[in-house]
Amino acid sequence: MNPTNDPALKSWIDVDTDCHFPIQNLPYGVFSRGQEPPRVGVAIGEHVLDLSALHGAGLLRHLDMDVFLAPFLNDFVALGRPVWRETRDRISDLLSEGNPTVRDNQELRLTALLPMGEVRLHLPMRIGDYVDFYSSMYHATNVGSMFRPDNPLMPNYKHLPVGYNGRASSVVVSGTPVGRPLGQTKPKDDEAPAYGPSRRLDFELEVGFFTGKENPMGRQVSMDEAEEFIFGLVIVNDWSARDIQRWEYQPLGPFLSKSFATSISPWVVTLDALEPFRVAGEPQDPPILPYLLTERDWHIDLNLEVALKTERTARPQTITRTNFRHMYWSMAQQLAHQTVNGTNIQVGDLYASGTVSSRFWDGKGTPPKPDELGSMLELAWAGTHPITLDETEEERKFLEDGDTVVMTGWCEGDGYRVGFGEVSGQIVPPQY
Ligand code: MN
Repeated sequence: MNPTNDPALKSWIDVDTDCHFPIQNLPYGVFSRGQEPPRVGVAIGEHVLDLSALHGAGLLRHLDMDVFLAPFLNDFVALGRPVWRETRDRISDLLSEGNPTVRDNQELRLTALLPMGEVRLHLPMRIGDYVDFYSSMYHATNVGSMFRPDNPLMPNYKHLPVGYNGRASSVVVSGTPVGRPLGQTKPKDDEAPAYGPSRRLDFELEVGFFTGKENPMGRQVSMDEAEEFIFGLVIVNDWSARDIQRWEYQPLGPFLSKSFATSISPWVVTLDALEPFRVAGEPQDPPILPYLLTERDWHIDLNLEVALKTERTARPQTITRTNFRHMYWSMAQQLAHQTVNGTNIQVGDLYASGTVSSRFWDGKGTPPKPDELGSMLELAWAGTHPITLDETEEERKFLEDGDTVVMTGWCEGDGYRVGFGEVSGQIVPPQY
């Protein structure tokens, strides 16, 4: 085990046992304070560690200061895995309880450690391409069975990770309001399509990874090379207008039903921090082609939750609890399949998992609460089984204006959590 992942490691900064940002995590983000320009930081406890301030004090001299005074992580990330490793080792050492370098330097502590409440968090990466997969077999089966009860999974599903090319420039950071999309829909029994606001607005609970290495066109990334390419992970909310999607998706897949907004959590949790939580996936049967096979464990034991707050409720209510380990296709398989045809990879591409659900439901009977389903489409079974909020007894089939969706995720260590913080977004009426 790498010393930075040692469960016994402690920082001289106080961190509660259920805090998402202990010394074992050290996720990267981009922050600003007041009118100062955005720059790179690391979350530790309830604070942001300003890496440019550490560099200014001569403590991160293995790197160029410019990579930390940037509005995105891309320049730092492009330096590659050995630099990610070295920087993590250095920051971990500086924050560990026995190291007096920053701990006993009151002046440096004041400039380098900023209370989380005093900063604004920005989109962490300049996102080149955005791809969304469909890698939960539970989700694919549940949704498929709404339309094809006897044959929910397409014949290709267990042979390749299905995905589509999404829109990178409408990926926004947590806290950004999401305008209800307008568009074209056609209810089943209507003869002609209609124009108006989506009435079936949904969330999708997903986990995405950022690539940190380029690959030129014409070259594949093998399963064994995936480690070099994956920098870190975020929680993703792939907002989806189901009524628009239903009318537009054949034959080329989702388009305007997805492109209006995708929200991500602000802190990028590195693959290095997640190392102790890597687990084997569920068995893949029938056998898959060799280019999608590896000996390494590529799933992550990552607890995920979705909570919903309405304009009338005082606090968010948890409506879904699931785990990322139940995905059928792993991140390495997604990347190997993405590049099997020679597709290029850029630093800062985002690859999202697809909706994370962890149990089958066929819309019959009463599901448990909170459920293990990663979308309202499944939770309320296409509007036929509305969910009820305990506090106000409000019913929801899909999202209403004013609703806020809060997603969170964390890996449970022995006495600590390696977490992602949260990604939240409030639905607002159409803005145009
Ligand atoms: Mn999706």
